[in-house]
Amino acid sequence: MIPYDENNVFAKILRGEIPCNVIDENDEALAFADVNPQAPNHVLIIPKGAYVSFADFSERATSTEIVKLVKLIGKVARELGLQESGYRLLANHGEDAHQEVPHFHVHLCGGRPLGALLSARTP
Ligand code: AMP
Repeated sequence: MIPYDENNVFAKILRGEIPCNVIDENDEALAFADVNPQAPNHVLIIPKGAYVSFADFSERATSTEIVKLVKLIGKVARELGLQESGYRLLANHGEDAHQEVPHFHVHLCGGRPLGALLSARTP
């Protein structure tokens, strides 16, 4: 697994060096709008701690960090009114998943029918 890069864009957002559109937060996690939305609602939820990806987070994060991240995801979905219509959660880990930013993040997308999970392209 690649080492954590303190200069990744989400680390800069957490340090306040880059602006973001905050949706909600708690003491362990931050939710903000994706800059290139793929759906009417596209929010990224990240831990405030330094974790490269889901693999890193699931291995090293404390129970409190995990619970607060999960709770924030559910809260944001409710706040956006997506509970009834539905939404998709997605986290990319590593090269095959095309992870671009090496700070663990969960995509929350909704606000329109999202279609099948993966494109029809053959592997
Ligand atoms: P991933 O491919 O899972 O690593 O997704 C990275 C996501 O971060 C993409 O959807 C980008 O649009 C988003 N992103 C990159 N830079 C920013 C930024 N400064 N503010 C908000 N979202 C960003």
